[in-house]
Amino acid sequence: MRTGASTAAGADESNPASHLHGPVLAWFDRHGRTELPWRDPDCSAWGVFLSEVMSQQTPLHRVEPVWREWMQRWPTPADLAADSPGEAVRAWRRLGYPRRALRLHEAATAMVRDHGGEVPRGHDELLALPGVGAYTAAAVSSFTHQIPVPVVDTNVRRVLARAVTGAEHAAPALTVAESRLAAASMPTGTTDENITRANRWNVAVMELGALVCTARAPKCDRCPVLDRCAWVAAGRPAYDGPPRRGQAWAGTDRQVRGRIVQALRESPDPVTRAALASTWPDDATKVDRCLAALVEDGLVEPTDDGAAYRLPR
Ligand code: SF4
Repeated sequence: MRTGASTAAGADESNPASHLHGPVLAWFDRHGRTELPWRDPDCSAWGVFLSEVMSQQTPLHRVEPVWREWMQRWPTPADLAADSPGEAVRAWRRLGYPRRALRLHEAATAMVRDHGGEVPRGHDELLALPGVGAYTAAAVSSFTHQIPVPVVDTNVRRVLARAVTGAEHAAPALTVAESRLAAASMPTGTTDENITRANRWNVAVMELGALVCTARAPKCDRCPVLDRCAWVAAGRPAYDGPPRRGQAWAGTDRQVRGRIVQALRESPDPVTRAALASTWPDDATKVDRCLAALVEDGLVEPTDDGAAYRLPR
């Protein structure tokens, strides 16, 4: 990615995305998925918190049904904390990266213990919760507590890389320059209207990246900033930055771990090692290695006699 903050024509010098604000916000008003339940203004902070953790590595259409189940079963942090971590893993279904379910259970427990059963408001308190990184803390601050901090996920990074910086892709990992660009790109002002606009920008630019400015095939002909996009204006130059990470899955330990957790999730009783080995019949060593890693992570526990495995109680 080009790291210089060269700005497109029409941009305010102090805000490299000022020329994008109007069209992106107007597009979101018309096309944003405002029907998503966690975007309902009446959604609780806990609901927003859950949605942000669930959607970090999972598409929203897969998140929504699981989110609804969780909110029905555990409508508050106290409800989840009162249940077992294994039930959280079981109810995670196939969202992937099930460690997130464990961390959510730990976060709910911390909210009950330290914050009166509420999602904390302070950025530092949010960051101190298990499994909460800079992205989740910023998202909950902006979307729930209406604090206008920049929320920077892969979609936001990609839109800013293209529309503002003129690069096809963002860097493989978040850079300081990107964080600064995202902060400088926020609508400013201290009135309630300004603050609402800044928080809406966060979700609007994220949505533009999810629906239009997609990674592989951006739908520029449907984009509200086509005539203002630095990458398009530059003739769509090919990405020339460091190699980007692939999303290898088939045959990886991640896939084997997923199968093991799935087998345990589907069984009300502990499952023997031999039965778990059948989830990946080609390589018993791999199954053993993955089982050991799952136990180490706390996602799986052996029975007292060590003959079988189950989700944590
Ligand atoms: S014009 Fe194309 S590349 Fe530029 S922001 Fe829109 S979708 Fe992305």
